[in-house]
Amino acid sequence: MTAQLMDGNALAAQIRSEVAARVLTLKNSGVQPGLAVILVGDDPASQVYVKHKVADCESVGMRSVLDRLPADTPQPALLARIRALNADPAVHGILVQLPLPPHIDANQVIATLSPAKDVDCFHVANVGALMAGLPGFKPCTPHGCMRLLQAAGVDPRGKHAVVVGRSNIVGKPMAMLLLQANATVTICHSATPDLGAMTRQADILVAAVGRRNMITADMVKPGAAVIDVGMNRNEAGKLCGDVDFAAVKEVAGWITPVPGGVGPMTRAMLLVNTLQAAQAGAAATTT
Ligand code: NDP
Repeated sequence: MTAQLMDGNALAAQIRSEVAARVLTLKNSGVQPGLAVILVGDDPASQVYVKHKVADCESVGMRSVLDRLPADTPQPALLARIRALNADPAVHGILVQLPLPPHIDANQVIATLSPAKDVDCFHVANVGALMAGLPGFKPCTPHGCMRLLQAAGVDPRGKHAVVVGRSNIVGKPMAMLLLQANATVTICHSATPDLGAMTRQADILVAAVGRRNMITADMVKPGAAVIDVGMNRNEAGKLCGDVDFAAVKEVAGWITPVPGGVGPMTRAMLLVNTLQAAQAGAAATTT
């Protein structure tokens, strides 16, 4: 058996075209959604991510502002910049590219973002809303994974979902979204004693660790939906995930490739959140 591919590139393209249509409607009513991206320092990977995010905005007709700040930017200067963007009505979403240089407290930076513009969904107000099941932003990567499942026709209701990884950015919110979709959820981490015993129970398996080939075919239940969030490089520098794709695709029912799975969906969901922020801003000014 060969798994069906969950094609993130195709789904992201479809989402971008839906977003572009909504951006046009908003523009016609006088609001152009705008995303401000702040990059502190010159981390090469961050520079690539930021470039993609800016290009994505432009591809759907949004305005994007890229703020490149030197690596030695003092924290108060960064916080002042964020406050200025919080107050700028033309900016609907603000994203501070992580990681930040070591002298900057990322928690303080996130706490300074206006929750209404926190399109990454990192601010505790937004994380709390997500936990409480209240309306608000959904974090981009887990939201993208949920949309991949939905597009594949995999309904989490009643299924056992196993999430490997418990970071604030991926693992924990992923588990929460699966729980909200009525899956029974298990979260695994570095202190889980027998990972395979857990993953073999998964109807839906999400790998978000950052360790190449850690999910092997013998760890996967036949027919499972396998979502590979991991982004690693092999010896040749090629991008690969946490899942041994070649072997696992022979066991799984559905699988995401790396590249071309979760990555493009993360970027597409950032546009969805920026649009949502702009729509909320437009509604607030007309009521
Ligand atoms: P973190 O390093 O913050 O978290 C990794 C998690 O994996 C931790 O919870 C850790 O457990 C767990 N872990 C480590 N070793 C093991 C193990 N042997 N068995 C089980 N669990 C283990 O990473 P992120 O969540 O930020 O990212 C995970 C991966 O996803 C990375 O490769 C990252 O690059 C990628 N990523 C991809 C995105 C995309 O758009 N495709 C977006 C964001 C991330 P513990 O908590 O106990 O330390």
